[in-house]
Amino acid sequence: MAIQSPPLTFTDSDNSSVIQYIDNPHLLTQLPNDPSTTALRLLSTNLETLFNCEVCSDGTISAASSISSSPRKIPIHKCILASRSPFFKELFGGGDTEKGKKDDYEMRELGKEVVVWYESLLVVLGYLYTGRVGSLPGGGICVCADTDCAHVACRPAIDFQIEALYTSSVFQISELVSLFQRHLLDVMDKVAEDDILMIFSVAHICGIGCEKLRSKCEEMVLNSMIDSVTIEKILPAEIANQIIHTRSVCKSQLLSLPEENSKIDIYSLPNKHIRRIHRALDSDDVELVRMLLKESPSTSLDDACALHYAVAHCDSKITNELLDLGLANVNHRNARGYSVLHVAAVRREPDFIASLLAKGALPSDVTSDGRKAIQISRRLTKILDYNRPMEEGMQAHNDRLCVEILENAETSHPILGEGALSLANAGDDIRSRLLYLETRVGMARLLFPKEAKIAMGLANVEGTMELALYNDNQDPAVDDLNDTPFKINQERLTRMSALSKTVEFAKRYFRRCAKVLDELMMDNDTIAFRGTETSEEKQQRKKRYQELQDVFSKAFFEDKRENDLSSISSSCSSSSSLGHRNSKIARR
Ligand SMILES: [Zn+2]
Repeated sequence: MAIQSPPLTFTDSDNSSVIQYIDNPHLLTQLPNDPSTTALRLLSTNLETLFNCEVCSDGTISAASSISSSPRKIPIHKCILASRSPFFKELFGGGDTEKGKKDDYEMRELGKEVVVWYESLLVVLGYLYTGRVGSLPGGGICVCADTDCAHVACRPAIDFQIEALYTSSVFQISELVSLFQRHLLDVMDKVAEDDILMIFSVAHICGIGCEKLRSKCEEMVLNSMIDSVTIEKILPAEIANQIIHTRSVCKSQLLSLPEENSKIDIYSLPNKHIRRIHRALDSDDVELVRMLLKESPSTSLDDACALHYAVAHCDSKITNELLDLGLANVNHRNARGYSVLHVAAVRREPDFIASLLAKGALPSDVTSDGRKAIQISRRLTKILDYNRPMEEGMQAHNDRLCVEILENAETSHPILGEGALSLANAGDDIRSRLLYLETRVGMARLLFPKEAKIAMGLANVEGTMELALYNDNQDPAVDDLNDTPFKINQERLTRMSALSKTVEFAKRYFRRCAKVLDELMMDNDTIAFRGTETSEEKQQRKKRYQELQDVFSKAFFEDKRENDLSSISSSCSSSSSLGHRNSKIARR
């Protein structure tokens, strides 16, 4: 996909900033040549030579990076930072560091309310050294995956501005806070409605220096089509209450304006009964939801927009339980005109999207302003993450998976029930079919952990026997996979059907992974039992199977350990070496 270039410089609508905008270094030489300007320019250039440089540094600040899987460190010089920022002056003021010992700080400890990435931190620290704010970070960090976007106010562009604003506020650099605030104010009319609440929350955290941005957000939220329940859930209580109160005053005026009637539902808070259903969902109690529906049959789950609520605010387990009740229309629209799938796209969690699609949500549905879920998803996804090569064994990025699932759902509609057909075709060879499926799903877990988890979740499959073998050699379900007699019981048939469904879902939503596994499994068909075989063939098959088990065993335990470590960041790799380990299987 071609990357459309965003505007690379910061705008400054009222030109009142004391900061020089130098997006083009050649401009430096064209500045007025009076002695004081020359001296300042020289000072800035000299200090720049120390920026992000280890020479004379006496500490580091690290932050998660969009580009690498591990956090990156920026060398700092405490004297420079302390002279430029009251925050650092106080932080370093203790001065009890041993001589020669460097202090390492983590950005997530310095500013705890908002996640700040390395690339944003670099721009703010760069300003402290040079007095200049350069160009936006490149490499697709501030550009979304929608080719029709100008990348001025899409989520990646806004995220950078918000992080830079918050970091400037934490470091108490007032002129930089005004700069980023003004830049955001300039693009607010282009920002997606769903992003306003996030900007509002950060402006609120930044406090008095961000009053203008805060007021603008308040005005926009007040008049937006964002429902009052969402406002109440996301914004701090005192702001939410104020907005809901103002809306309730406006509501009486709306009654006399027929063209504004659609806003009445949005402006209102739901009735007591619907509130109780929402509270039951908040406490993960679907049984209570069922009882409440019995108690008041006139209120349906759709009246309560219960699926919208669960997808926006609850975890995937409760959403799936609600879907399994079969009492809610998966394509129901809320007062704003959003389907449940649109809300799931905003949530940016691939398992919600996959669950809804599997239950029949229509990817082609559009919002009242004409956007499909895929468009919402692309505007939220950095092109960097969208184009990132997917390495086997690595945890895929959530945003990328959301886009991938929706893209695949738009272009293909395989018939459900392939699993059942495969089961029928297995005939007498059920043992080898089961082994094939266990091996395939087991491999998927190692090579594509997040995708496999989603597909297994959709089919209600927990764990794979391949891997269970290493945890419990006594497992009666698997210990005779290679030796007769093999009992075909209901448990095994149910398991086979669930595994088939897993493979089916994976083929539908993760074609990229399915293709790799197809090739791998074709290569490994030596493990399949063919009904009649010589004892030599049987020995060979057992040997090959044992080899595969060994590889799985090693890979699984190493990967599990690394997975636990890297679960902090969704974009982190679970194991960079796993792809290599498993490529051994592929080459056979
Ligand atoms: Zn964009």
